[in-house]
Amino acid sequence: MVLQPYPWQLGYWNTLQQRRAMQSLPHALLLEGPEGLGKSEFAVAFAASMLCHHPDTQGRACGGCEACHLFKAHTHPDFKLIEPAEKGKAIAVDQIREVVHYLSLSSHHGGVKIVAIQQAEAMNVNAANSLLKSLEEPPGNTLMMLVTGRPASLLPTIRSRCQSVLFGVPEAHLARDWLAIHLPGEEDAGLLLALANGAPIKALGFAQDKVLDCREALLRSLEDALRPRADLLKLSKLWLDSGVPVTLYWLQSYVADMLRLKLTLQPPVINNTDMVESLRKLESQFCYQGLLEFADKLAEAQRYLRGNANPRMTMDDLVLAWREAYTLAKAKRASA
Ligand SMILES: [Zn+2]
Repeated sequence: MVLQPYPWQLGYWNTLQQRRAMQSLPHALLLEGPEGLGKSEFAVAFAASMLCHHPDTQGRACGGCEACHLFKAHTHPDFKLIEPAEKGKAIAVDQIREVVHYLSLSSHHGGVKIVAIQQAEAMNVNAANSLLKSLEEPPGNTLMMLVTGRPASLLPTIRSRCQSVLFGVPEAHLARDWLAIHLPGEEDAGLLLALANGAPIKALGFAQDKVLDCREALLRSLEDALRPRADLLKLSKLWLDSGVPVTLYWLQSYVADMLRLKLTLQPPVINNTDMVESLRKLESQFCYQGLLEFADKLAEAQRYLRGNANPRMTMDDLVLAWREAYTLAKAKRASA
């Protein structure tokens, strides 16, 4: 369990510690920003810091006191962590009712009671509504930290009752130094970081999950789909077998890069730096409108899949949408 902030989070950390020292922390914080920056770990580290009996001069938990021992054993009575019971599932209303009840009890150690809600956007409407009252009239000395990579998916009434801490992508050298420690000898660290949009923890996850392995095959599949007698079912199966979230991630990354290549005369900054030639060749066969429509389809597919759409059919539709974008550009060229 990480009990201290990551190197790139020290600015946010120090600001919150100063506010804490001045007793001006709000009752509810919304830790928001892209995935892979360590916001969840930050929330946990900050909770540990507030409960520790002997934090260091920067406010970091000591790791050795009674409170820290309880905290590390996940048994500190004044800290509650909520997250979806299963990956991809909602945070249920019962989980939030438990929070509301917990907050109504007095603190065991006479200090602050803390709740961290990870992936807060996963709260269903009932769960979010149950939390509202606690956010409006927080009982006594409490701190609620809602963590999200998709703040727009939270109810506006929830968002407006929290003070936002907006996490940005770290400076490249901080991210590179950290990755060098955690991926020693990794030659592709710079590429992984670029592919992860600069998010270090996401880059580390890419390396561990070997998501680079299917990356080339997915690019080839985009090219293969344009052949006159392309086997579209086979391509759809490849997209399905590569793991739908991974496929969607790379397709979005490729389309974003193709749009960048299409729109800028100067060499643009793209994520898939090692594939620029292939992407340029592919992009030249599409029109701007077609690429944009396909990007919309990808975003739509992501929404549908969160709503339990059939993955196989969704991938079939996407392959067809990619072909349609290509046909659109051909028709435009023919009529020009
Ligand atoms: Zn401690």
